[in-house]
Amino acid sequence: MRILPSGSFWETIGELAAQDYKARTSGDKAEKMRIVSKQEKIKNIAKEWKKLYCRGKNWIYGEDKKEIYERLIKEKPKTEKEVIRIIGNNSWTENICHECGKDVEIIIELGGFFYKWDNFITFICEDCLRKALASIEKYKSKRR
Ligand SMILES: [Zn+2]
Repeated sequence: MRILPSGSFWETIGELAAQDYKARTSGDKAEKMRIVSKQEKIKNIAKEWKKLYCRGKNWIYGEDKKEIYERLIKEKPKTEKEVIRIIGNNSWTENICHECGKDVEIIIELGGFFYKWDNFITFICEDCLRKALASIEKYKSKRR
């Protein structure tokens, strides 16, 4: 997570992401190539919000974080639009493909294999995966 800018907020995000990734991808039930959907993000948003902004009984990074959490619990947003209305932006629901840059409903997390000094996790949409496969097929067919 060294690509993140320094500063406690970004370090916290980086640490949480690293812990989450390590927990998911180690042991017998290793979960790689994970599907990431907007619906799942929306469903878990209050829990994830608290995980990032609350330590014990203390809300860090501002009192408004607690107010937003309480609204998330009370209003139980079901759509991205409802989340944006509560938190003010789409940073918690956007699902950006790292190949085409589109914000899509479903992406897949790839790149969990630890190679040499680091792994390179990326998120790719269905269209780009299909294009990648087509590209491989085209390459192989030319070589036959
Ligand atoms: Zn894409």
